Amino acid sequence: MTLDNATRERILAEVDAGFDAQLAFTQELVRHPSLRTEESSAQDLMFAAMQDRGLEMDRWELDVDDIASHEGAGIIDVSYDDVDNVVGTYHPALEAGRSLILNGHIDVVPTGPESEWATSPWDSRIDGDWLTGRGSGDMKAGLVANLFAFDAIRRAGLSPAGRIHFQSVVEEECTGNGSLAALQRGYTAEAVVIPEPEEDMLVRANVGVIWFRLRVSGKPTHPREMSSGFNAIDAAHHVVGRLRELEDRWNAQKDSHRYFEDLEHPINFNLGKIAGGDWASSVPAWCEVDLRVALYPGVTAEDAWTEIIDHLATVVDDEHGHPITARTTRNGFFAEGYVLDEGSDAENVLRGTHREVFGDELRTFTTPGYLDGRVFTQYAGIPALVYGPISEAIHGYDERVSIESVRRITKSIALFIAEWCGITEARAESDPGRSHSS
Ligand SMILES: [Zn+2]
Repeated sequence: MTLDNATRERILAEVDAGFDAQLAFTQELVRHPSLRTEESSAQDLMFAAMQDRGLEMDRWELDVDDIASHEGAGIIDVSYDDVDNVVGTYHPALEAGRSLILNGHIDVVPTGPESEWATSPWDSRIDGDWLTGRGSGDMKAGLVANLFAFDAIRRAGLSPAGRIHFQSVVEEECTGNGSLAALQRGYTAEAVVIPEPEEDMLVRANVGVIWFRLRVSGKPTHPREMSSGFNAIDAAHHVVGRLRELEDRWNAQKDSHRYFEDLEHPINFNLGKIAGGDWASSVPAWCEVDLRVALYPGVTAEDAWTEIIDHLATVVDDEHGHPITARTTRNGFFAEGYVLDEGSDAENVLRGTHREVFGDELRTFTTPGYLDGRVFTQYAGIPALVYGPISEAIHGYDERVSIESVRRITKSIALFIAEWCGITEARAESDPGRSHSS
């Protein structure tokens, strides 16, 4: 750490001083149900929060054609009308330090039956150390931590010496197109921090993800002559079973993928959604299943997709020898995984700030889930530090995030900003956030 003790203590004390307001703002944000394509009101809140801090604001609707031109783009089957990214930029008076992107996603995943939640997913209640609600952990607490970490530095009378882009992006949970659009718009920096819920650890490696829909056709008949029909739902079940052979094969290869050797089952094929048939008294004519498959970093999405298609081509009939007609359509992620190279300056700085706040060494791990970190590492060569708080039940019922963990992560990010960007004493007469807005 290059910060002197007194400066460090000032920053940490300001995180504590602002923490009640930080929690209140997180709760407010969680109360906005920013499900896919419904992020607008939550983005209004983020926009206003960044603008209040004197950041140079940029808000734009995602452009389907621009995104589609990128090799890492996800396939879209929704409208991007009113689906906006928000970026606020802090410019130091004199840009002398390293630049930084503080990224987070505003979109949240579906709640499932709300009756299964202890209280509404949008109540955003606090219970002991837990802040509950859909999106609380994944990842509104982190998104808000980025801003409040910055506040602490400024309230301490300091100004970061490097440019900082605060990004609130959409589409992380389904395509990754939000972060991709921000990159396409020209936002780059020398490091990015993404406070996803990672249990106070740093992500070393993760998988890529492909989404696709499988549509199986049947032959509808009256059930009285069922044997002359062909049941598309049964057939889809059979096809998915055969696809598991590929999942097994890929998992068996884990030893040849560094950082994945110790995971029990790194590659998960998830049958996430199913629809089919028209009613109970016809042999179903159709069935659609939505699948999410994972791929190792170093395997291109294109290559993984080819393997999937080739494997499906071997599924020509069901267990009774009836021919199967299946069609695949990609409808979301087409994303590669990434590995965060060991020993980067950014990681070393984070190791120092984590040790300072947590009192122990930063641990790294491999996650079998998608992360937007791949956008920065794969397409811009920017080290992505995906590092964030302890959570429970993300994508499940009663999702929640640990409040004390959020506090410590915020402190670590605040120190990271100061160490990475460098700091200067803010001049009393000027508002550092407004010192250079164009
Ligand atoms: Zn997330």
